[in-house]
Amino acid sequence: MNISVGVKSDVGRIRSGNEDSYLTNDLIFVVADGMGGHIAGDVASSTAVDTIKEHLGSASGSDPETLAQLIRHANVTIWEKARTDASLTGMGTTCTLVYVDGDRAHVAHVGDSRAYRLRAGALEQLTEDHTLVARMVKEGKLSPAEAMHHPQRSIITRALGVDSDVRVDLTSVELRDGDRLLLCSDGLTSMIDEDSIAEALEREQEPQAAANLLVDLANEAGGEDNVTVLIVDLSSGSAAGGSASSEAASPPPPPEPVGTDPGPAAAAPVHVVRSSRRWPRWLMVLLVIAALIAGGFLAARYALDNSWFVGVDEDDRIAIYSGIPEEIAGVQLKEKQEVTPMLLADLPEFKQAGVRDGIKVDSLDEAQTTVGNLSDLAQDFARDGNTGDGT
Ligand code: CA
Repeated sequence: MNISVGVKSDVGRIRSGNEDSYLTNDLIFVVADGMGGHIAGDVASSTAVDTIKEHLGSASGSDPETLAQLIRHANVTIWEKARTDASLTGMGTTCTLVYVDGDRAHVAHVGDSRAYRLRAGALEQLTEDHTLVARMVKEGKLSPAEAMHHPQRSIITRALGVDSDVRVDLTSVELRDGDRLLLCSDGLTSMIDEDSIAEALEREQEPQAAANLLVDLANEAGGEDNVTVLIVDLSSGSAAGGSASSEAASPPPPPEPVGTDPGPAAAAPVHVVRSSRRWPRWLMVLLVIAALIAGGFLAARYALDNSWFVGVDEDDRIAIYSGIPEEIAGVQLKEKQEVTPMLLADLPEFKQAGVRDGIKVDSLDEAQTTVGNLSDLAQDFARDGNTGDGT
């Protein structure tokens, strides 16, 4: 595949600094959107890009897991910086990375920056936003249009630099002659809708001109955030465009998260969870105790991987854990999976004790729903100062 690239990053019309960073390097393309205040956000996103650049040699298309490792490496580097420099506390960044490997694109992703593939005029989102509103859209609680204007749309549930480890989504799609890839920060997608993005990408054939056009459109729509647009055009040298009859019909591949995913239990649909609970809680606890007594780790591991709760981490932030909140025989059986920017103090008092004890749920999906509900509550609380009985 021949590759031509266009890229533009712009501060927008409201912000005073640009906290987005990007990388174009041969076959690897990255967009990172930093957060945490003026300097810290910039440090987070540029550290992500710089760390990836330093370790590019270890990336390989034949093993996309090496791309996830690049991002995890960046995560640790940012996390260390945030821990050792008080002025950088709380910084984080998104990271969307695309590796073009012949006729495939491998995508590694954390946060709410996005990668798209444009083919025959149809725009397919290749990444899944790690945001509360994306979760609510998935559950049918919000329409995509409502999500775009939702006051909590910027709350992300996964970012680099927040914890010592991070789950990275990996997905892989086929590429054809004429495909166009778009990587962007949410400064684009929060300002203009996907139809307008697709239309602009169709209208402007030259990749740099297309990147410029999208940034202009985001700014014309208000430019409320930094905006970064990276376009990668793919063409095969020879005219190998054989059968092109039903291209638009190819369905978008659902991104498949990998890494520490807990297996089939987490993929269960949310709606029927309560009636389909697979293990009574007392049995789970018995199982764990039995496992500890027997010195066998397998059953304890099973419990860790198959039970979930929403609780509070050591920094008083609301977090999602696998495992159980209770210690058994002095042993902690929990692993932090996702941290939110929400603090326990953001919740009304009547809710705090319950969250501190841990709200047990049956799946990661349900945990994320619970976090969404808590976020609603926090928002009401911030607005009204008092939520009565909280219903
Ligand atoms: Ca942003």
